[in-house]
Amino acid sequence: MIQSLTTALSRDDLARRDAEDPLAPCRELFQLPQGVLYFDGNSLGPLPKGSRDRVLEVTDKQWGQGLIRSWSLHGWIDLPRRVGAKIARLIGAQPHEVLTADSTSVNLFKLLSAALRLRPDRRVILCLEDDFPTDRYLAWSLSDGAATDHELRLVAADALAEALRDDVAVLCLSHVHYKTAALHDMAALTRLAHEQGALVLWDLSHSVGALEIELHGVDADLAVGCGYKFLNGGPGCPAFLFVAERLHDEARSPLTGWLGHEEPFAFADAYRPARGVDRFACGTPSILSLAALDAALDVFDHASLDDIRRKSLAMSESFQRLVDERLPDHRLSLASPADPTKRGSHLALRHREGFSVMLALIDRGVIGDFRPPNLMRFGFAPLYQRYTDVWDGVEILRQVLEQELWRNPT
Ligand SMILES: *Cc1c(COP(=O)(O)O)cnc(C)c1O
Repeated sequence: MIQSLTTALSRDDLARRDAEDPLAPCRELFQLPQGVLYFDGNSLGPLPKGSRDRVLEVTDKQWGQGLIRSWSLHGWIDLPRRVGAKIARLIGAQPHEVLTADSTSVNLFKLLSAALRLRPDRRVILCLEDDFPTDRYLAWSLSDGAATDHELRLVAADALAEALRDDVAVLCLSHVHYKTAALHDMAALTRLAHEQGALVLWDLSHSVGALEIELHGVDADLAVGCGYKFLNGGPGCPAFLFVAERLHDEARSPLTGWLGHEEPFAFADAYRPARGVDRFACGTPSILSLAALDAALDVFDHASLDDIRRKSLAMSESFQRLVDERLPDHRLSLASPADPTKRGSHLALRHREGFSVMLALIDRGVIGDFRPPNLMRFGFAPLYQRYTDVWDGVEILRQVLEQELWRNPT
């Protein structure tokens, strides 16, 4: 009804939004290749110019000239905490509650294991049956896989509440689902888990940097997240972990490496955990990629998460509308929640030939990605994408589908 009363969205409409966009200047902060419309910032963020410069500086000056002195001279030893403090601002945490370390997968293992020790009288790890595989695999390694007496309970999203019974030690859940972009209600689920005496470990990989997160506001226990998606920290850069201050004395890391020791440079015989979140460090941090992430986070000094979220919603709504208006017989179906406020910052569209269609798009400079069996994902990253990119991307999708260009992959 409403659709028929309004005129179709035009490229000019979107160009006007670009002209009024408070985030438009941020695009300049990235080094973007010519001729590419990038819809995959949810999987690998592009290169911030600041990260490129920082890596060169750290390589030439700090490593090249400073050598081992740079651990103190250039504060390498504190870098995981300093970068953690920057991330804390994006997730509603206190600076001393966040550490950058290892990969998301390793951090999941450390915090899941810590959660089980914090609830010794409970046996169940609760996960979503179709959550990101690494989350489920690691939960499995701490249950049947490692011959412990824990149980991995896998349920569908609509059965989560019911499965949260008083035998659950920890609920481990992605804030935004990696395939469908479905956004979980963090406040409601955390409250529900706490009512049952369970802890929650939130995986923020697909939400950090894309929308406002208030870990303190929801009384969150534990969280992990990825540095190379919406945070643009570069391929394989360190991930982060969050442990609420109220758990700092009790929570223990299963990986008792020397850099998680209270006094690593005392080289003591016995392990004594460092205070607070530092005990979740394990080995030597990857300084080069941590430096890239550090500089990438400075981009967020130029943009509020509120503006980022507002633009992301407008972009994904426009994409959805253009697909409906301009590709009426497209044989595409929406795999994401129809309400933009119920999803993170990407859209998943099903198409029987989704894989070939995505290859044809990438051939023509429209880079999204594909997840089996038939999902094409289009990410929205308001820091560097323009509203007109949405128009142009959908236009190329229209050509690929109408002319069946996906039939001849190159
Ligand atoms: C991207 C992603 C990860 C990545 O884990 P790595 O250890 O960095 O490979 C983990 N969990 C979720 C939900 C993700 O989206």
